Amino acid sequence: MLKHRDYLQEALKRGAGRGNSASGTLEFYSALYEHQAKRFEAYRSLPLEGAWVRPLEMPVVDGARLSFTEAEGAALFEGLNLLLDVLSSFHPGMNFDRVRAAFAEGAGAVERTARALLTRDFDAISAYAGDYQIGVEEYIFILVNWFKPYFAALAEKYGPKIGQDDWMEPRCPVCGFYSDMARIAGTGDGRRFLHCALCEYEWHFKRIACPICDNEDAEKLGYFTVADERAYRVDYCDECRGYIKTVLPERLRISGPCDLTVENILTVEIDAAAMGKGYSRP
Ligand SMILES: [Zn+2]
Ligand SMILES: [Zn+2]
Repeated sequence: MLKHRDYLQEALKRGAGRGNSASGTLEFYSALYEHQAKRFEAYRSLPLEGAWVRPLEMPVVDGARLSFTEAEGAALFEGLNLLLDVLSSFHPGMNFDRVRAAFAEGAGAVERTARALLTRDFDAISAYAGDYQIGVEEYIFILVNWFKPYFAALAEKYGPKIGQDDWMEPRCPVCGFYSDMARIAGTGDGRRFLHCALCEYEWHFKRIACPICDNEDAEKLGYFTVADERAYRVDYCDECRGYIKTVLPERLRISGPCDLTVENILTVEIDAAAMGKGYSRP
C-alpha cells in the first residue's frame, strides 16, 4: 500500500486538489489515510489464507466463498470501530451505533458483508444500509475504506506472483473488484494500467476497450480532457455510458510512483465534467 498521506501532502504543495475547496475534505482524507496505513500494518501480520484464496488462479480471491477466522473477524471489527471514530470526528452528525452493533457478533457478520461487497451484491448492501439508517453511498464508502487495508495486504502478498499478461479483464485479478482510475505508462511504452478501487493492485489492460463493460468497438470509445489539465483525461464509452479518469504520470511533476488512490480524490472537478456530459462511474 502506497503512503497515501505523504503523497497527498506533496500533491497539495504542487498545487493539486483545487477542486476540493470544501473545508475539511482534505484534512479528512489525511486522517483516513493515516488510519488505513496503521490497519495495513495490523492486517499484514494475519495469515491471509484459506480455501477462498487461490494463489494460482485469477482472481486470487473467490469472493463468494470468502470466510474469516475468528482472529481476522476480531481484527476487522477493531478496524471498523477505528474507521468509524475517524468518520465521527469529521461528521459529528452521523450516527454509527447500529453499524457498530451489527458487527459486534463476530466474524459471521463481517464475512457476509465482505462477500456482498466483493460479489457486488448491491441489493444486499442497500438492505443493510437501510437497517443501519445510513445512505447507500455512505455505506459503500465505509465498506470500501474498511476492507481496503485488509485486501491491500492480500494484494501485497499475492499480487507479485500474478501472470498479468494472461489477464486483460476489467476486474481486478487479485480481489475481483472494479477499477476506480487508470494510468498510461511512460515514454515509448504506452501500456494502460487499471487501479483497483478496493485492494489498490494495478494490472495491465487493453488500450482499446472499455474498462467498465469491456466493449472493444473503437467507434464507441473516446476521451476528452478538461480545461488545461494535460496530465489527466477522461476515457468514456458510449456503449455503457461509463467513464474512467486516466492519469499520464509523465506530465505530473512527481519523482516516485503515481498514487491513483489519492489522484482520484484530487480530481473531483474532472468527475464533475464527465458527469456533466452524461457519463457515470461504475
Ligand atoms: Zn483488487
Ligand atoms: Zn463501456
